[in-house]
Amino acid sequence: MTKNTKNKIIDSMVHILPEEFNVNRKEFMKIDLTFGELFQNPKSSIHNIHKLLDSMNINNIDKSICCGFGWTSKKLAKLSNDYIIKSYKTHPKNIIPFCSVNPLWGIEAIDEVDRYFQSGIKGVGELHPNYQGMLDCNLDDLRPFFNYCESNKLPVIIHSSEPIGKYYPGKGSFTSKYIIELIDFYPKNKFIFSHLGGGVPFYALMKEFSNKFNNSYFDTAAFSYIYDKKIIEIIKDIIGIDRIIFSSDFPIISQKRIIEDICSSKISHSEKESIFYKNISNLLN
Ligand SMILES: [Zn+2]
Repeated sequence: MTKNTKNKIIDSMVHILPEEFNVNRKEFMKIDLTFGELFQNPKSSIHNIHKLLDSMNINNIDKSICCGFGWTSKKLAKLSNDYIIKSYKTHPKNIIPFCSVNPLWGIEAIDEVDRYFQSGIKGVGELHPNYQGMLDCNLDDLRPFFNYCESNKLPVIIHSSEPIGKYYPGKGSFTSKYIIELIDFYPKNKFIFSHLGGGVPFYALMKEFSNKFNNSYFDTAAFSYIYDKKIIEIIKDIIGIDRIIFSSDFPIISQKRIIEDICSSKISHSEKESIFYKNISNLLN
């Protein structure tokens, strides 16, 4: 899977933002909890569509799914979502648009997703349950949002994390317990749990959870920060290759590093094809 091969690669979660976020970074950090948390380190970079296209070109990536963050500010959500749609319109062959909202915004969230659905989005995310208030909400309050996504076949990407281990900005505490509660409540929705679901696939070894993840996918976003690359072959053995999706989390981590770590893991060529593009292509039809 090096440059100049004909293998297809779809990066299933990258983040791009318009220049306004660089110019107003400090102000925006005050009005959006998630943005404030994620960009507290002054070295955390904000990249626009052009920097993404450069990186895709260098790494031989055909398409990237552009995602927002788990916005708490409607103003920032709109700025980011509009920019993703604009980038998709100018680069339709390279960009697959997702939009992001807070599911707890009720009918406004649905109107917003529906508006972007008419413009071509293929999913919603990345959501961040901690800052968006989903951890302690009544799960039934999310029903209008998840019903809309289910009926329009929109997968939802949700940030997930490990209950133990080092802290990193934006880690949050949407861990295995919450993931399983959400799947139980909304068994028909398609979910992509980021960062290999914070390790939740390991629990598929428990007899009661062996069929729990039939509608769930787990992406490799920034996994090289957290895990030994051996995790790819181990999770594959537990939940099957068709549940694992390549995402980088660019620009938080380079696309190159995640691709290299997947390529050098001990799985077959056809299994790599499943991770790099087949699984996400099937999910998005
Ligand atoms: Zn995340």
